[in-house]
Amino acid sequence: MMANLSIKRIDRGDGKELILFSQNPIKYKVFEGLPPISDNKTHLRYHPTRSEWVGYSTSRQNRTFLPKALECPLCPMINDEVPSDIPVDQYEVAIFTNRFSSFKLVESDIPHLEVETNQAVGTCDVISYSSNHNDEFSKLPIERIELIIQALSNRSEELYNNSKIEFILPFENKGKDIGVTLDHPHGQIYSFGHIPELIKRQAIVQKSNPLEKYLSNIPKELILKKNSSAISFVPRWARYPFEIWIVPYRRTSNIFELSENEQKDLAELMLDASKSLDKVFDDPMPYTLAWQLSPKGYENSHHFHVCFQPIRRSKTKLKYLAGIEQITGFFLVDLPPERSARILRGEELPDE
Ligand SMILES: [Zn+2]
Repeated sequence: MMANLSIKRIDRGDGKELILFSQNPIKYKVFEGLPPISDNKTHLRYHPTRSEWVGYSTSRQNRTFLPKALECPLCPMINDEVPSDIPVDQYEVAIFTNRFSSFKLVESDIPHLEVETNQAVGTCDVISYSSNHNDEFSKLPIERIELIIQALSNRSEELYNNSKIEFILPFENKGKDIGVTLDHPHGQIYSFGHIPELIKRQAIVQKSNPLEKYLSNIPKELILKKNSSAISFVPRWARYPFEIWIVPYRRTSNIFELSENEQKDLAELMLDASKSLDKVFDDPMPYTLAWQLSPKGYENSHHFHVCFQPIRRSKTKLKYLAGIEQITGFFLVDLPPERSARILRGEELPDE
């Protein structure tokens, strides 16, 4: 854990929490804020041919959709008239329970159907990277990226220590093209009471085919940048255009096991990767970003890493997950990873 981390917790009622992270202690002015959503009903249903759970949440249809900046639920509050989900006058990084959470830690009534149903156990958090509505991850100072990593580590460890939780996924959907409903720079943390099937499969594969095996042998043509403890590269097996992986050399199963130096090195490569993604088309790159933590029970083999999965393949074309990808999980790629790497390093121009 890095020095200079101040944490302030605010109970928002109804099991909801606001956690504020800063480099130095801040005296917050606290307001009432947005009320919790009370009619949110969630449950899981079993999918018999995929052998996996599907989540259902009734309030998600009514969730906030691209509000005007003045009504942004992630902006700090000036007065009681414009309530927010982060009801303080200022902050650096904030994590709070999503009002439209698809998962819950308390038991609720679930329907009894002809298929198996279950409690939707878990949590859905939002992490706001900045109090400034117009900030972007790639434009934040390095100290802020480090603070975001500290906040994610702190919250992930807390969720990991909860016996009801089996898997934690910090992630980000970036850009309207990917379906982001809020402009304010933010990510999310989902924690699951079960391990999703695909995550379980990946964890099992890593037991016999560890990521470390590939790390010592990444060819120069794929490397974007490296420092003393981590490397960022386009994987030879990339499924998305401009896909980037950032992997610490030392295997830890979870983000909260990184040393202070490893956290700083990760922050440096994260910032660098997000800058080079935005540079490709001179426009913020839409992507999903996953912080790949170990599901419980696989800590001895999982190798913590971060993946950017961008969806823009040329200035005017998006990579859609269409029939083949959606139905079979098999990806067809038309931008070779080797060329992606050259474009990301600025050695070649992308397609118009
Ligand atoms: Zn905002």
